[in-house]
Amino acid sequence: MFEQITIIGLGHIGSSLARSIKHNNLCKKLIAADASPSVCEKVVELGMADEVYTDLTKAVIGSDIVVLAVPVGAMKLVAEQIAHLVKPGGIITDVGSVKIAVIEAVQPFIPDSVDFVPAHPMAGTENSGPESGLADLFEERWCLITPTDNTSIKAVEKITALWEGVKARIEIMSPEHHDIVLGITSHLPHLIAYTIVDTANMLEDDLKSDVIKYSATGFRGFTRIAASDPTMWRDIFLNNKVAVLDVLQRFTEDLTAMQKAIRRGDGDYLFDVFTRTREIRREVIELGEAGRPAPGYKSAVQ
Ligand code: NAP
Repeated sequence: MFEQITIIGLGHIGSSLARSIKHNNLCKKLIAADASPSVCEKVVELGMADEVYTDLTKAVIGSDIVVLAVPVGAMKLVAEQIAHLVKPGGIITDVGSVKIAVIEAVQPFIPDSVDFVPAHPMAGTENSGPESGLADLFEERWCLITPTDNTSIKAVEKITALWEGVKARIEIMSPEHHDIVLGITSHLPHLIAYTIVDTANMLEDDLKSDVIKYSATGFRGFTRIAASDPTMWRDIFLNNKVAVLDVLQRFTEDLTAMQKAIRRGDGDYLFDVFTRTREIRREVIELGEAGRPAPGYKSAVQ
C-alpha cells in the first residue's frame, strides 16, 4: 500500500484511476487536483478523494506518486508547475496516449531526486469528465510503461505495482515503439472514424438524415468512436505526428490499391485482402483481445 498518491486531472481516466485506487485500497491518502473548480466540486460530491485542490502546487506535497492525467497538450504546463515540489524519492507518472511528446514535454522539469515513469493505460470510453469514470475500467486491460533512460528500475516496479493493483496487465516497451503501435491500432482508426462521420455530415440534408436513420452497425460504430473527446484527440494527432503520418501514408496507398481493384473489377485482389484480414481477426481472438469482457462499457484501445 502506498502512503499518498496525487492524481492531477480528474476527467475520465483520472477519475477512473481514483475510483480504482479507492476500490482496491491502494493508498492511505488520495489527493485529487484539477484546474477546473467545477471538476473539483464534482470530485468532492462523489467522494472520490480524501483531499481536493484547484491549486496543483498544494496537491503534490508529500506524495509518493503523482499521476498526470491531463490532456497530452497540458502535460508540459502541469509538469512545470509541480515537478520541483515533488518530494525526493517521489515518482511522477502520466497516462498520456502519446509517449515521445509527453516525455519531451515533462522530462526537462524532473529534478534529479525524482523519477519519471511514463505510462499509458489502454482503456477508456468516448466519454469525458469526472462522472464518466469507472472503478473497473483498467481490469484486464493493458497498461504500457515506457521508461526513459533516466527512469530507475525501482520506480518502474512501483508504477507496475500501482497498475497491477487496479488489475491491469503490464507491458514495458520503448516510447518509440509505443507511438508506432498506437499510431496504427488506435490513432489511425480514430482518424478514419472522424473522417467518415464528417463525410456523412457534409452530405446533402435529405441523404444525411437517411444515413443517420438507417445507420447500420458499421457506421454506428464509427459514430461512437468519432464522439471521442475533441481536445484529447486533437492533442494526440498533433503530438504523434510522425507515426500517424507514416501509417496514414501506408493506409492511403493501400486504400488506393483497393480503389483500383474495385474499378478494374479485380475480385481476386479483394478476396485475397479480405481473407488476410480474417486471419488477423482470428489471431486477435486467440490472443483474447477481441472479446475481452467489458466491465462497464470499454471502447476500442485508446
Ligand atoms: P478528460 O476527461 O478531458 O480529463 C482531463 C482533465 O484534466 C479535465 O478535468 C481537465 O479539466 C483537466 N485539465 C486540463 N488541463 C489541466 C491543467 N492544466 N491542470 C489541471 N487539470 C487540467 O480527459 P481523459 O480522457 O481523462 O484524458 C486524460 C489523459 O488520459 C490524456 O492525456 C489522454 O491522452 C489519456 N488517455 C485517455 C484515454 C481515454 O480513452 N479517454 C485512454 C488512455 C489515456 P477541463 O475539463 O476543465 O479542461
